[in-house]
Amino acid sequence: MKKNRQKLFNIIRKTALALAALFGLILLIFAIFGRPNHELELIFLDVGQGDSTLIKTPDGKTILIDGGPDNKVLRGLGKNLPFYKRRINFIILSHYHDDHITGLIEVIKRYRVGTLIYQSKTPDSLLMADLLKIASQYNVELKPLAGQADLSFGIGCDLNLLNPDILGIKKDPNNSLVSRLDCGGQKFLLAGDNPAAAEKALLASGWPLEADVFKASHHGSNTSNGAEFLEKINPRLIVISVGADNRFGHPGSFFLERATALNIPIKRTDIEGDVKIFAK
Ligand SMILES: [Zn+2]
Repeated sequence: MKKNRQKLFNIIRKTALALAALFGLILLIFAIFGRPNHELELIFLDVGQGDSTLIKTPDGKTILIDGGPDNKVLRGLGKNLPFYKRRINFIILSHYHDDHITGLIEVIKRYRVGTLIYQSKTPDSLLMADLLKIASQYNVELKPLAGQADLSFGIGCDLNLLNPDILGIKKDPNNSLVSRLDCGGQKFLLAGDNPAAAEKALLASGWPLEADVFKASHHGSNTSNGAEFLEKINPRLIVISVGADNRFGHPGSFFLERATALNIPIKRTDIEGDVKIFAK
């Protein structure tokens, strides 16, 4: 009887030691691989016909600009964030169309989202109402943006946001918040689905548009991404977030020709899947 008890005690002791060693090993792996690597990462997620861009800043913050047309964004986040990273500090919604908004609802349910920034005076839509309701339920801070905002992510890493409504342009459902990230000496411009009128107003405003990487507006449509706008941005790379064989004919052939004429290389999510850009 005593022998059996001793045996049981030994088994428990060995199991506890093994578990402690395993726990220690897991902590060590986290310490080595879980540290922020002080690199900026932008991932233009392949969400089909829509937009969703994940940004990981050097100070360890996460930003999601738009959420794509469905829950594919969750797969993209799962692939590109470590499993223990459940916090998204900022969601920026460029405009209320379903190919930008839909995925955000499930993101808010499954991640701890800090702040949702969106255009003030968004037209009434069921999806927008749903998004704001869910965001409130999950204690996400709501920040409607009427003008401009600057978010800082440590020294030399800033995200400037602009609502083109303040430029006095005509109402257009494609008018979108413009995001310009200036981080570690590299600049990235994302202008949602902004049409030509908004581009013209942006050019006239003198707002800084130059960028190393430009996410083509409106999935590379011909009616956005004007030649003058592209010349002003002067990017070394254009990324198009677009679904294969989409019914809109995106990206437009005239836009592709404009980019080719300016010798700007293009990467497309329908061809390459997630487009990842790393910068120091
Ligand atoms: Zn769109």
